[in-house]
Amino acid sequence: MSKTNFDFDLIVIGAGYGGFDAAKHAAEHGLKVGIIESREMGGTCVNRGCVPSKALLAASGKVREMADVDHLALFGIHSAPVRFERQKIAAHANNLVSNVRNGLTKTLERAGVVILRGQGRLEGSQKVGLRDDNGVDRVLTAKDVILATGSDPFVPPGIQIDGRTVFTSDEAVKLEWLPRWIAIIGSGYIGLEFADVYTALGCEVTMIEALERVMPTFDPDITKIASRNLIASRDVDAKSGVLASKIEPGCPVKIELVDMKTRDFVEELEVDAVLVATGRVPRSKDLNLQSMAVETNRGFIPIDESMRVLVEGQPLPHLWAVGDVTGKLMLAHTAAAQGTVAVDNIVGNTREIDYRSIPAATFTHPEISSVGLSEEEATKLSNEDGFSLGVVRSYFKANSKALAELESDGLMKLLFRKDTGEILGAHIFGLHAADLIQEVANSLSRRQSVSDLSKEIHTHPTLSEVVEVAYKQAAQQLKKS
Ligand SMILES: Cc1cc2nc3c(=O)[nH]c(=O)nc-3n(C[C@H](O)[C@H](O)[C@H](O)COP(=O)(O)OP(=O)(O)OC[C@H]3O[C@@H](n4cnc5c(N)ncnc54)[C@H](O)[C@@H]3O)c2cc1C
Repeated sequence: MSKTNFDFDLIVIGAGYGGFDAAKHAAEHGLKVGIIESREMGGTCVNRGCVPSKALLAASGKVREMADVDHLALFGIHSAPVRFERQKIAAHANNLVSNVRNGLTKTLERAGVVILRGQGRLEGSQKVGLRDDNGVDRVLTAKDVILATGSDPFVPPGIQIDGRTVFTSDEAVKLEWLPRWIAIIGSGYIGLEFADVYTALGCEVTMIEALERVMPTFDPDITKIASRNLIASRDVDAKSGVLASKIEPGCPVKIELVDMKTRDFVEELEVDAVLVATGRVPRSKDLNLQSMAVETNRGFIPIDESMRVLVEGQPLPHLWAVGDVTGKLMLAHTAAAQGTVAVDNIVGNTREIDYRSIPAATFTHPEISSVGLSEEEATKLSNEDGFSLGVVRSYFKANSKALAELESDGLMKLLFRKDTGEILGAHIFGLHAADLIQEVANSLSRRQSVSDLSKEIHTHPTLSEVVEVAYKQAAQQLKKS
């Protein structure tokens, strides 16, 4: 029962990770909550993102490990040639998607959240329009409204998608077939993860990156070691500084490559399939944001640190936005954290989000992870604020656990303030980097000093000692400065 005269205390538009966490958290606070979803419950992460892609990475990672006869021979292990069934790998991902989606839907129902199927939009302050699947339209009222409509794959001009030979991650997660030769456009985390899956399953990959170097968003030192392991040592041909200006689906798929700077023709490729992994665009255009005079930034909804929607820099009452549609670190755990922060503010527990402490990971084999500032950002900050920047590197080749696994090509780079010891950022490539970064993220969120952190005891032998060594080296530098 709403305690107010509104139909709901809170309506959330979009049941992805951001909307889900917001709705659940609000219901747990006793609010009457409605959540509107036009597609499958769970949004991108559950249906077309994190969940199916990690299932594919898990299965293909096992194939890679068992097929790496040279690596296994170093342990004295000799296995028969690996056989795998593409359909069963695809079914593993599909089944996981259904299980997670059902679990999430039941969790919301149990919490008392009303699930409303259809397309949601704003109809002015505290009003939400809902067009259901039969085209029936109605207007609901709510004391507060959270927009959590997420994002879609970005497809650059000149590229035609047919969903079969030229596709985005939306289709790739279904693993409907294995092309002999696939071009992946983009070398961000989605492109890298799918290159990992495809090469493990025996496909040849050409990676096309428009910017000057592959993996342009990653730390340059991490890129060096990661590209040696994930690109150079595999069946991957990486081309950078070239733009796929035209892609025509078919058999074969034709790709026209031009020089990124001059736009001069470089070459034409003929491949079996193309995965377009060139980033994501916010889904905000059908929200009728103009009814609240909200102006987006390239489709992203502007918000403050409390998740309030901004108009001309000023927060609007009762309107909030979370997740990919806000364009801040477009990751599932960011969306979820923003969702709970929005609700905490709605119920009067004033709270802001600390984006600097949100970690990010790429689940390749081995993994890449990071948290906080890049070295470039940290250097800029040190110049502006007048402190010396400390940089230390800790290597997996000095770690007993990594050596025991015969997987010791890895690096952690830690950035910190030399005056206070505060951690500013960390970047890791190596075995279980996605798990290792969490410890640093937690310390960063507490703004802890490396001198305190260097005294914390880590289990031996574990990969976490890579982090311990970095803290100790950093603490040594503090003493010297
Ligand atoms: C291949 C891939 C792999 C990924 N892997 C990871 C990973 O490993 N870790 C990680 O943290 N992140 C990962 N991500 C990113 C993650 O999926 C997103 O950051 C996350 O899903 C964003 O959540 P959201 O709630 O903002 O939006 P979404 O999950 O996109 O959900 C928005 C929902 O709103 C609905 N909707 C939109 N408009 C309306 C409307 N008008 N009315 C009703 N409903 C509407 C949509 O149908 C959708 O269900 C991955 C993404 C991809 C594509």
